[in-house]
Amino acid sequence: MINQMYKEMTGKGSVIREFFTYATQRASEIGAENVYNYTIGNPSVPVPQEFTDYMIELLQTKNPVALHGYSPSLGIDSTRQAVADSLNRRFGMNYGKEHIFMTSGAAGAIAHAIRCVVTPKDSTEAFDEVITFAPYFPEYVPYIEGTGARITVIPADIDTFQINFDEFEKAMNPHVQAVLVNSPNNPSGIVYSTATIQKLADILTKKETEYGHEIYLISDEPYREIVFAGVDAPFISKLYDNSICCYSFSKSVSLPGERIGYVAVNPACKNAELIVPMCGQISRFTGHNCPPSIIQLAVEKVLDMTSDLSIYEKNKNILYTELTRMGYHIVEPGGTFYMFPRTPGVDANEFCWKAAKELNLILVPGDSFLCPEHFRISYCVTTDMVERSLPLFEKLIKMY
Ligand code: PLP
Repeated sequence: MINQMYKEMTGKGSVIREFFTYATQRASEIGAENVYNYTIGNPSVPVPQEFTDYMIELLQTKNPVALHGYSPSLGIDSTRQAVADSLNRRFGMNYGKEHIFMTSGAAGAIAHAIRCVVTPKDSTEAFDEVITFAPYFPEYVPYIEGTGARITVIPADIDTFQINFDEFEKAMNPHVQAVLVNSPNNPSGIVYSTATIQKLADILTKKETEYGHEIYLISDEPYREIVFAGVDAPFISKLYDNSICCYSFSKSVSLPGERIGYVAVNPACKNAELIVPMCGQISRFTGHNCPPSIIQLAVEKVLDMTSDLSIYEKNKNILYTELTRMGYHIVEPGGTFYMFPRTPGVDANEFCWKAAKELNLILVPGDSFLCPEHFRISYCVTTDMVERSLPLFEKLIKMY
């Protein structure tokens, strides 16, 4: 008999992918220039030239057997050391290579980090819990529930999209083993301030004493480098000892297809020396182990740099200014390439699937991020497309 859980999941794919597929199909019918595809978070700027040049150098100069051989299961030593050095230099941390585990993107990093700190229970015991905050990346559900733990989502504070601390404190209980945060945030674009992270850290420290066990802070940071001018963006692991950072090169250096990221375990964390070797063991269960050797080596060249990200801030400024003028309510993003406006008082599904779609404006409804009266605009697109779409956004809001 086949596994019924996965069978049922096949009928419930990602809403973002569904809208993206629709936009692609519509573009083939009426021409790409007539479809305003704001669905997916695929970077629209090229990888830094240094990465491409180094890939070519590696291919031309390295022994091909070694270059294309298996990587050590925790990652290539020189890459792990280079990641640690870069984090220490930039954020005043104290990582060694023993704290770094190379992964397939942030997805691989989060799935490993969560498995390190939760334990599947049998049906007679209460489940371990991982708390996260709306609006949140919908893939957290399979990442967390695939470990045998349960996800608890704290409702959004829609006025600021910072953490809703009243609801968080109500939801805390001794079964919570980890809290998963994402800042800069997909879908809101909001960056958690130092004050927000400090307050979260203080509550977690207090609760650790009360419950008599660690509560790990898992920080999902694929957008860490995409922060706009003047925004306070703390390095989260600096503010809480029991923290595990999950990073990805997908967004800041435009490498989503290469599937590369890492787990960085705070050296001050309880069991810090065990977590990376445990990740190596977890890979044996998931069968999803070390990323390609050549990509690990090549990212060593881009650890302290990003793609030219300026178009994201430019697009944000145009959309935020113009949409606000038209009457949309938006909490101004501090980073990423997402924006999360309120719908004009209607259900997001009706707004996106009916009204916006009729104008070939393809937007993602907020219900899968647990905000049913918001919609996501993913503006990693050309500025030309942003400008051409403005009259349609105006037409859309006038329908209500
Ligand atoms: N976390 C968030 C918030 C994301 O937006 C994404 C991808 O869009 C991921 C994790 C997964 O990133 P990766 O492609 O590096 O696995």
